[in-house]
Formats: sequence, structure tokens, C-alpha cells
Amino acid sequence: MRLRHKPWAKQEMDKVPHIVIPNPTECKGNWHEVFGNENPIYVEVGTGKGQFLTGMGKVHPDINFIGIEKYDSVLVTAMERIKETGQPNVKFINKDVEGLEDFFAENEIDRVFINFTDPWPKNKHEKRRLTYERFLKLYERILKPGKEVHLKTDNQGLFEYSLHSFSKYGMILENISLDLHKSQLEGNVMTEYEEKFSRKNMRIFRCEAVFRD
Ligand code: SAM
Repeated sequence: MRLRHKPWAKQEMDKVPHIVIPNPTECKGNWHEVFGNENPIYVEVGTGKGQFLTGMGKVHPDINFIGIEKYDSVLVTAMERIKETGQPNVKFINKDVEGLEDFFAENEIDRVFINFTDPWPKNKHEKRRLTYERFLKLYERILKPGKEVHLKTDNQGLFEYSLHSFSKYGMILENISLDLHKSQLEGNVMTEYEEKFSRKNMRIFRCEAVFRD
């Protein structure tokens, strides 16, 4: 992703601590209190500019969504979207996904979304892929038993790698699509990158991977 540095981004996000949570470690185990309800909590890792979660939050008002994005210059756009719509069920964390266990208690989360994450095609960068074993361990710990990771990508190499990684980890694969927009899946909400790639007629790969109880 090409980054345009926005020196004012952090300052703007600091003004809306109900949207971009300033100290997520203090919310660990207490996210239901933060949202003020007992609804399920879905997390998107690498949320970018927040189009997916804004859309999902509108379609599913009875679900709480948290997006994690490490770059403030990117996340500030997501924050602005939610500031404008006033959706109470979408919040963000401006941190690296590496810290997931610091932000969420065991079994606190109901689903993880990984959308168009960086493919890191070189073998030497395998450990940075968000479907690498180390990240699957983090997702497993914060997810309730038997819950799912949903992956979408345009990158066939990352998709093949992820299917392998999920299956090696013992996860059950479901609803695999090799061309999402030509499949029968209902209720798909497009991400920024998904829109960009589908405008170029590129195929979108998708799957769900379920942790065993
Ligand atoms: N999910 C969005 C979409 O589909 O339009 C954005 C996709 S963009 C290619 C990937 C985003 O993930 C970038 O904004 C990047 O900064 C973020 N990202 C990648 N690795 C991350 C990590 N370890 N922690 C937090 N954010 C990360």
C-alpha cells in the first residue's frame, strides 16, 4: 500500500477515543463493557481505511466490530467514516496485529477477518504473512472454541499458502471460492482492495477456516 504521511492523523484520532481506542490493553477482557452490550465481537486484522467494517457494521447492527491497523495515516480515514456515520458498533485499534493477545482475553472474540493482507511473496518473509502459524495461534487463543477465520485475497500465491497453513494447523476448511464474485455467496461486503481488484476483472479468492473445539 502506498502511504501518504498525514502528520495530523494521530492528533485527530486522539480526539475520538470512543472510536479509536487509545489504550486497548486496558479493554482486554472487557470489550462487552466498551460496546455496552453482549453482542458477538468480530475482528478484522489489517483493516486499512475501514470500508469493510463500515459496511459490515451497517448490515449487522447486532454485531460489534473492531478493526486493527498499524498505520495511523491509513486508519484516520476509517475513523473519519465512523465519525460521520456515528455507528456505535465499529471501533478501531491503531496497533500491530502482533499484539492481539495484549488486547483480547482468551475466548473473547467470535470471528476474525483477514482481507487482502500483504502477501509477502518471498519465502524469507513467510513469518510476516497474517496466515502464518504464529498468527493462527494468536487467533485461536482469542477466539471462542470452534470459531472461524474468514480470508479474502486477490493473491493466488497467498491463498494457496493460507489453505496449506490452515490445514496444517488442523483447521477445517469451508466455503472455498476461487472466484468469489461469480459464486453464490450472499451478503458479501466489499473491501477497498476488493473493489479495486474487481474493477480490473481480477478474481477474488475466499475461504473460511474453522478451529476445532
Ligand atoms: N483490509 C483492507 C482492504 O481489504 O481493503 C486493507 C488491505 S491493505 C493491502 C493491508 C492493510 O493491512 C494495510 O493497511 C497494512 O498496514 C495492514 N497490516 C498489514 N500487516 C499488519 C499488521 N501486522 N498489523 C496491523 N496492520 C497490518
